[in-house]
Amino acid sequence: MDLYEFQGKELFRRYGIPVSDGRVVTSAADARAAADELGGPVVVKAQVLIGGRGKAGGIKLAETPADAEARAGEILGMDIRGHTVRKVLIERASDIEREYYLSLTFDRSAKKPLFMFTTQGGVDIEEVAATSPEALVRLHVDPLEGCHPWHARRLVYEAGVEDPSEQKQIAAIASKLYDAFVGCEAMLCEVNPLIVTPEGEVRALDSKFSVDENALFRHPELAEMRDVDAADPLEALAREKGVTYVKLDGDVGVLGNGAGLTMATVDVVTFVGGRPADFCDLGGGGDAQGVVDALEVITRDPQVRSIYFNIFGGITRCDEVAKGILQALERMGIEHPIVVRLDGTNAEEGRRLLREAGAGNVHAEATMLDGARRAVELAAG
Ligand code: GDP
Ligand code: MN
Repeated sequence: MDLYEFQGKELFRRYGIPVSDGRVVTSAADARAAADELGGPVVVKAQVLIGGRGKAGGIKLAETPADAEARAGEILGMDIRGHTVRKVLIERASDIEREYYLSLTFDRSAKKPLFMFTTQGGVDIEEVAATSPEALVRLHVDPLEGCHPWHARRLVYEAGVEDPSEQKQIAAIASKLYDAFVGCEAMLCEVNPLIVTPEGEVRALDSKFSVDENALFRHPELAEMRDVDAADPLEALAREKGVTYVKLDGDVGVLGNGAGLTMATVDVVTFVGGRPADFCDLGGGGDAQGVVDALEVITRDPQVRSIYFNIFGGITRCDEVAKGILQALERMGIEHPIVVRLDGTNAEEGRRLLREAGAGNVHAEATMLDGARRAVELAAG
């Protein structure tokens, strides 16, 4: 789960990482009041769950409270690559001498947290990695050993930070960032830029903070940070119903049992020239209620023109799935053409149930490829 900049900074503050003073507001008038309260020039920063806000015009300096009101008025409601701005962070403006980059992620191949640090911050880190990889210091931390002062010292020395006060401040921030990363069970903590002010003070000017969705039950205070408004409404509905669903852009609703089979189904639909509308995994259970819930989510998407059920019965019994489909049709009056490929445990029985129900919009296919072709045809027709 990705956090907003202001939420990440709240966590930074909690762990002792210096950040600028700021207030989150949702209206231009409140922006003015916040700027007034903070005093002096401020930055008005769009709060969206996507990076590159600066380039998109979502970050503006404001000299006066009136100016802050005007800038907030421009930024609120703005669309930044598909994300509508509903909140802005009003922050006391910083003077910037230098911009650095510091992050912690998981390096899955090394099975360890990985620090990355460079004095060439502010820009896209991918660009630094591509054009001057030697400037990017990478350092793994053994999770059992934890982060020790030498880790942080090595980061600053290897990156060529020479000022002793800067070295000390950055080392302290790196160590606190590690505490935040572990304490919040984060997947990513990124500070870009980590700035040095003309007075030599080091501060986190931005925050990209992502926490492990599966660990949220241990962190109710982080779980509360979820912004339900920002989520795709279909994905929010799916989460509410306990349906594993990812919205895609096409018109063939895809439903399978098991993540692997569902992904393969998405691929096969694409392979035969179709465009999947979603990834929806029924999981290992696949009882009637689960199918009803999944169909409810899938058919809520107005782009869906046909539905492709790809079921391989192992633990999931095909007759159960067939009953689920029939029940859902009965309860919901689905008019979409539905292609069903049932194979595995009780497949014969499942297909018989579908046949005998005689629903005109249900089409049984014997193979995965034929099923995909049929569903794509029906979506087009
Ligand atoms: P991003 O574009 O989404 O990564 O947003 P950032 O928070 O990193 O801001 C983008 C850029 O805006 C920074 O790299 C800075 O150059 C600039 N910026 C942000 N806050 C301030 C500030 O307080 N003072 C000044 N002078 N520039 C700022
Ligand atoms: Mn940034």
